[in-house]
Amino acid sequence: MANLVDLTISSLRQLLDQREVSAVEVTRAYLERIEKVDSKIKAYLTVTGDQAMEAARAADEHMASGETAPLTGIPLGIKDVICTKGVPTTCASRMLEGFIPPYNATLMERLNGQHAVILGKLNMDEFAMGSSTENSAFFPTHNPWDLKRIPGGSSGGSAASVAARTCAGSFGSDTGGSIRQPASHCGVVGIKPTYGRVSRFGLIAFASSLDQIGPIARDVTDCAILLEAASGYDPKDSTSVNKQVPSYIGSLKEGLKGLRIGVPEEYFIPGMDPEVEEAIRNGVSTLKEQGAEIIDINLPHTEFAVATYYIIAPAEASSNLSRYDGVKYGFRAEGYRDLLEMYTRTRSAGFGPEVKRRIMVGTYCLSAGYYDAYYKKASKVRTLITRDFQDAFARCDCIAAPVAPTPAFELGEKKDDPLQMYLSDIFTIPVNLAGIPSISVPCGISKEGLPIGMQLMAGHFQEETIFKVAYNLELTLGKIGDWPEI
Ligand code: GLN
Repeated sequence: MANLVDLTISSLRQLLDQREVSAVEVTRAYLERIEKVDSKIKAYLTVTGDQAMEAARAADEHMASGETAPLTGIPLGIKDVICTKGVPTTCASRMLEGFIPPYNATLMERLNGQHAVILGKLNMDEFAMGSSTENSAFFPTHNPWDLKRIPGGSSGGSAASVAARTCAGSFGSDTGGSIRQPASHCGVVGIKPTYGRVSRFGLIAFASSLDQIGPIARDVTDCAILLEAASGYDPKDSTSVNKQVPSYIGSLKEGLKGLRIGVPEEYFIPGMDPEVEEAIRNGVSTLKEQGAEIIDINLPHTEFAVATYYIIAPAEASSNLSRYDGVKYGFRAEGYRDLLEMYTRTRSAGFGPEVKRRIMVGTYCLSAGYYDAYYKKASKVRTLITRDFQDAFARCDCIAAPVAPTPAFELGEKKDDPLQMYLSDIFTIPVNLAGIPSISVPCGISKEGLPIGMQLMAGHFQEETIFKVAYNLELTLGKIGDWPEI
C-alpha cells in the first residue's frame, strides 16, 4: 500500500470504508509525518496529538456502527484564525497568545459532526494580513517545493501542510486572496467560495465584507468534498445565505462542451512572469481542446482593485481590531499607570508592524473629513468592479486567469516593501470585492520547479461550474510533478 500520507481524501475514504485501514492508523501516520518534517516546514502553530488520537478512536467506533460521513476519520488542519473550543487560537498574533476559545466556530461543529480528525492549528500572517506568512508573530512557514521560499499567505500554513502531506486537507480564510495565492504557490487546490456560502461564525474577523472560509486540498475532488462539508446556512452568521448546497462532487465529471470561458485582457500585464503567462495560456488551450469555447473579455476596472481593497480592508480591520484592548481577552501589557496607558501599551506591544499599519490606514480613511474621499469613493469603485464581473458573466460561464503574477518568491524578498507585497494580490482581490467564488488549481511548473496555479472564477453560487472546469483541467494536465521530498 502507498504511504498513507500520500493519499487523497477520496482514496483514504475507500480504504477506511473497506476497513483496510483504521482512522487511528491514518492519524498516527500523519502525526509521525508532522514529527518528521514540520520542523522544516513550520506549518503548525499547535499540534493536538492527543485530541486527534481520541477523535480517531471515536471515528473508528462510528464507522464500526455503520455511520460514515465523507470526512469521518480524515485528518485535517485548521488555520489559526478559526475558533476551536479548548484549543489555542492565536491568529498568529502576540495579542491572542494563550487565548483558548470557549466555543467552536460553526465550521468546527460541522467537521466534528462528521467525525473528522483535527491535527492542529496552522500558521498564518498575523490576523490574516499578508501574502507570505512572514507576518506571523511566531515564525515564518516554508514552501515545501523550495524551503528558501515563502508558501504564500495569509493561509500559508494551510497550503504548505497539504503540500507537505502533514494533513490530508485544510481550511483557510480568504479576504483578498489568502486561500488562492498560497494554494497556487504550493501546488495544491484552494477555493474561496461565494460570500455567504460557508458560515463565518467563529472566524476571527479581519474585513467582514470580504472574509470567507474555504478549503485547501491535494486535488479538485478533495476540495469539492471539503467544501460540501463546510457549506450551508447558519443562523449564527447574518451574512450566511439560506440556499441549498448542491452536490459539488456530482458535477465534476460533466464535460466542458458548450461552456464559455472568458480570458480577461487586464489579467495579463507587463511585469508579470512570462512563465506564469505561458502556463495560463497553455491551460486555456487545454480547456479549448476539451470542448470549451474561449472568448476574450474585459474587466476594465481591474487596475483600481488593489487601491480599493487597501482602503476597504484596513477600514474594516481598524474597527474589528478595536476589540483587542487588553480588557476582554488576550494579551495585556504591564507597567501602566492608568487606563489609557494600559490600552496604548497593550496595543503597541501586542500587534505587529503590518497590523498597526493597517489600523492606522483604516482609522485615517474612516476619519471625519476623509470618509467621503476614501471609504465612500472606494465603495463606489467596488460597485464598478462588481459590475465588470456581471457584464462578463453575461457573456461567459467562467473566467480563467492567473492567480499571482509570479511563482513563490524568496523569504525576505518583499518583507520590507509593503507595496510590492500588496501587488502580489493584484489578480485575487477583485473576486473578494465582488463576492464571487474562485479557485486556484495547479496548471504548470516553472523551470525552477515552482508550481503555478490557474484561477477560475464564476458568478455567485456557481461553484459547480468552477469545480467542473478545474476537474477537467486537472484530468488533462495530469500531475504537475511528484510531491516534493522534504
Ligand atoms: N494579502 C492580502 C492582505 O494582506 C489578503 C489577505 C487575506 O486574504 N486574508 O490583505
